[in-house]
Formats: sequence, C-alpha cells, structure tokens
Amino acid sequence: MSDTIDKDNKEKDDDEYEKYCYLCRRPESIAGKLVSLPNNIHICSDCMQKTFDSLNGKNMQFLDLGSIPNLNNLYQFMPQDDIPESQKVKKKKAKKEEKEKTEELSLKNIPAPHKIKAMLDEYVVGQDYAKKVISVAVYNHYKRVLTDTMDDIEIEKSNMLMIGPTGCGKTYLVKTIAKLLNVPLAITDATSLTEAGYIGDDVESILSKLLAVAGNDVEEAERGIVFIDEIDKLAKKKETHSRDVSGEAVQQGLLKILEGADVEIPVGSGSKNAMTPLTTINTRNILFICGGAFPDLEEIIKQRLTKQSSIGFGADLYDKFDDNPNILKEVTNDDLRDFGMIPEFIGRLPVVFTLDSLDKDMYIKILKEPKNAILKQYKKLLALDEVDLEFDDSAYEAIAEQAMKKKTGARALRAIIEKFMLDIMYQIPRDDNIGRVIITGDYVRGTGAPIIEMRGV
Ligand code: ADP
Repeated sequence: MSDTIDKDNKEKDDDEYEKYCYLCRRPESIAGKLVSLPNNIHICSDCMQKTFDSLNGKNMQFLDLGSIPNLNNLYQFMPQDDIPESQKVKKKKAKKEEKEKTEELSLKNIPAPHKIKAMLDEYVVGQDYAKKVISVAVYNHYKRVLTDTMDDIEIEKSNMLMIGPTGCGKTYLVKTIAKLLNVPLAITDATSLTEAGYIGDDVESILSKLLAVAGNDVEEAERGIVFIDEIDKLAKKKETHSRDVSGEAVQQGLLKILEGADVEIPVGSGSKNAMTPLTTINTRNILFICGGAFPDLEEIIKQRLTKQSSIGFGADLYDKFDDNPNILKEVTNDDLRDFGMIPEFIGRLPVVFTLDSLDKDMYIKILKEPKNAILKQYKKLLALDEVDLEFDDSAYEAIAEQAMKKKTGARALRAIIEKFMLDIMYQIPRDDNIGRVIITGDYVRGTGAPIIEMRGV
C-alpha cells in the first residue's frame, strides 16, 4: 500500500520542474526547502533570513519583494557589510578571472612554428606538409595581430584554403590549433549559407557564432579563428539560369568579411530582427580557414597537366597522372577557378594547401598514436574495471581495412570499433574474474572470438 503511494508521489515529483529561489536563483536541491509565496514565488531560507536581517538593520529603505528581480538587486538595498564576501562575486567575473589564469596569447608566448607543429604531431597523424604550412601561417597571423603597428609595411592576412578528402583531418587540425593557442574557434558549414534575404543563414551568422563561442566578448572574438567547411559546395553552378543564391552569391558575400571589415551582427541569435541587440565586429584580425574535398578537382588538374604536355603523348600522360594519388598537390588558382570558385574569393585565401588521403598505415597510426586515440579511450574505460584491453596486430589491420572500404576517412573508425566493442563492454563487467581481453583480427572481421584471460593465471 505504502509502496503504491510512494510510487504515485514519485511520479508526481518527476513530472514537476524543480523550484527555484526567486532571489538567488538556486534550485531547491541546492538551496534547501523553499518557502512558497503567492504568485508562484519561492524563497529559500537563506534569502528569507537576509531579507529579515536587512529589514531590521541600518540604512533600511522600503523593500518590495515583488519588485526585486534577483539577489543582486536585493543587495543594493542592503548595507554593504552584510553581504557575504562569497556572494559579492558575480558569476561572470569569476569566469573572467579563470580566463586570465589560462595564459593569454602574447608576442612573447606565441609558439614558434616548429613548436606548433610538434604540438600538432601529438594529435594529428601524418599530414606533415599541411601541419607545416598551417604552423607557419598561424604563427605569422598572430604575430601580425599582436604587433598591430606595422608602420608602412602592413603584413597581409594569411587566410587559408585546405583541400583534402573527407575525414582526413581538416577540421581536426583546425580544432587542435585553436585549442593549443587558446583562441575561440567557430566551425560552420558553407552549405547552410545563402545570400542575405533568402532562406538559410547569412554570411554574418558565422561571426555571430564566433561571438557566442567567445562568450559574447567582442575583443576575444576579433582574434579568433573561423573554419568554413565544405567550401567547395559554393562553386558557381554551371548551366543554371536561376539566381545562384547559395553558391556564387555566398562567395561574393564572404569577400568583405574575409578581408577585414566592420560587420554589424546580432548578439546571441543567427538572424537580425527588432528584438536582438546588434554589435559591431571587425574581421581584420580574424583568421579564416576554409576547407573542402573538391571532388572533381583532380580531373581538372589532370586535364590541365595533360594539355600542358607535348602534343601526341596526351593519352599516356593522362594515365600517368591517373596513378598519382597526390595529384591534388599540383593545384593552382586557375584550377580552382575552373572548379567554380570566383577569382576574388581565391585571392583572399592566399595560403592554399592540400592534405593527403589516408592510407592503411595512417589508419593504424590514428588508432594507436594520438594522445586521445580512440583505442586508448577504450583501454582506459576497461582499466577502470581493472581489465587489461589489448589489440594484436591483425586487429589493427582488420579495422584499417574495413575503414578504407567505407571511404569516409578516419570518421569510419569509430563506428567500426563501437560495433565490435559493444559485446566486450557488455560482457566484461559481468565477470570479475576476467583480467585481460585481447582483440584479434578474426574477432574484428566477425569470424572468431577475442582471447580472454582470467585473473591470476
Ligand atoms: P574532415 O577532413 O572531413 O574535416 P575531420 O577532421 O573531421 O575530417 O576528421 C574526423 C575525425 O577523424 C577526427 O575527429 C579525428 O578524430 C579523426 N582523424 C582524421 N584525420 C586524422 C589524422 N590525420 N590524425 C588523427 N586523427 C584523425
């Protein structure tokens, strides 16, 4: 009987939202039992006590509880000595102090390119050329931003264009750089952008995103990084008679912000309307990195290279270029223009570089080496159950082979691993005697079982 009553009560409680103290905004679970007042107002006992104390105290003015939106306002009416020290600190302030503790980027502490690359090496496998280019470009960019006074010689901005197949580490590289340098990073997808006035996001929404990531701190946002993925989707549409609102027009729209301009953007929302306040962001020091897979670019490069070569051997050469897996490295601005990027746009991305497509060795390294490699994460999870998880060489090979077949780059790894690890993660905690699990290639392929060793054997 009492069980059913408990159950009913519990269900009722679950349905309800947690009550908050009207003054200090703490939920009931933290502030303790709340006193309920009319109009659905609840007050915690601490605030109630403070209110009574101040009513009895000195300097008291007329106090209307209903007109006080929060505790800070209440404190205006209170003698300053009565405010506990811990509560004088506003939440926002505390955040800022914390930020200051993590070192701000300055001319003195900006790492040299070789150091940036060494840091990238810990996370990103292969892509040596890309890492080198990005390290130098980022170093130069922040040197330019931090000196600011460049007399007559204005150092140009080093916006970048990264070309590489999907899942080869473009986004990951940018994310890692932003984390290492402790600057805000906004990642957007070019496919969601449209010309102003059409359904979709305006180009300015990118900056709103950056501002949000920077905690609405304009100064912080103005030295951040913006990564625009899938930039190849903005290529001019061929043979179209309608207005190209999501391709060429977006490239045009981006020109201004890529170079450096004062842009008015809504705060805390993607769209301009009467309800959102506007702020101005200067994009002069924001580093823009664009990335894309540019699927048919190889074909364009091959055709150009073949055309350039002597007449008569065309067909042979074409085949020769066919075998070259890294033909993308030969890319020129003309190729990009033929692809559909407008010259003004390419001109504003002076640093163009390519990433290699991943081969089997790289897949295996991605599994094993990065600081937060996915297999290391699983090992750690099982280590918490005091179980030793190991992979033999055939397992690495089998995972890499399956990933290569999926053609989605390193992104495929996680799905493959999660599939075969499910049973392990389910079964192991059932048996305390299991001390070690060795994953084999056969198990990954689904043709065998993992090797399980018991404790103390
Ligand atoms: P894209 O090139 O399409 O932007 P991502 O950078 O998002 O691909 O890669 C997807 C995931 O694959 C990353 O989160 C990362 O974990 C992994 N990855 C891809 N390339 C590498 C690499 N070279 N080294 C380490 N991890 C990688």
